[in-house]
Amino acid sequence: MINRKSRDEIKKQRHAGHIVALVHKKMKEVIEPGISTKELDNIAMQVIKENKAVPTFLGYNGFPASICASINEKVVHGIPSEDEILREGDIIAIDVGATFGGMVGDSAWSYAVGKISEEKQLLMKATEEALFAGIEKMRPGNVLDDISGAIEDVAKKYKMGIVRHYGGHGVGHVMHEEPFLFNYRVGDKTKIKSNYVIAIEPMLNLGGDDVYTEPDNWGVVTKDHKPSAHFEHTVLATEDEPILITTLME
Ligand code: MG
Ligand code: MG
Repeated sequence: MINRKSRDEIKKQRHAGHIVALVHKKMKEVIEPGISTKELDNIAMQVIKENKAVPTFLGYNGFPASICASINEKVVHGIPSEDEILREGDIIAIDVGATFGGMVGDSAWSYAVGKISEEKQLLMKATEEALFAGIEKMRPGNVLDDISGAIEDVAKKYKMGIVRHYGGHGVGHVMHEEPFLFNYRVGDKTKIKSNYVIAIEPMLNLGGDDVYTEPDNWGVVTKDHKPSAHFEHTVLATEDEPILITTLME
């Protein structure tokens, strides 16, 4: 069952989303060649705690950090490490969740480390465009497949691979609620209603669709080792325009 959020739940979730956006603002400032993903995790944790929120990822199914940091061919769920140092030309996806007042905000963004190749720039542009094409469809009267299809169409336009094994999800009192949202058409006619909150999160690849899980049982990597990008917002459907939960509040 998909829960429609109450006004109070939305208010708290919006605050959680603001804190997530603060983390991303900080990540944008500090991501540069030479910094380790463990340092990024420490900084993210600090921002979350300063704002009296809880890092949603820490301990989630045993995950050992506050962010997922996934470099280049790593798609999602990268565990931060002191030994993993960003280099010029990398792209890194940072995924972060914060819980405030019992409500979760969840957002991922891909960042360029210094100067990156044109093909990586195109991958990031395509994936961000796919996210916003999906968000545009997050409206009452539409169905989940409208969001999935909009994402798929952008991926196809740019000839990018689509990661099939992962996708978006309802989000609220816990990070993963119903429904699951595919990043390609599956014919899901579930109607979108106002006050649904869904994390929309395309993961696109420069190469093929296929991925595998690393021996640490977390990191997900493209099978052909071509780069992957990930963009995600937590989004509220309303009778008017969709509202981004994971942006800075005025
Ligand atoms: Mg996320
Ligand atoms: Mg998510």
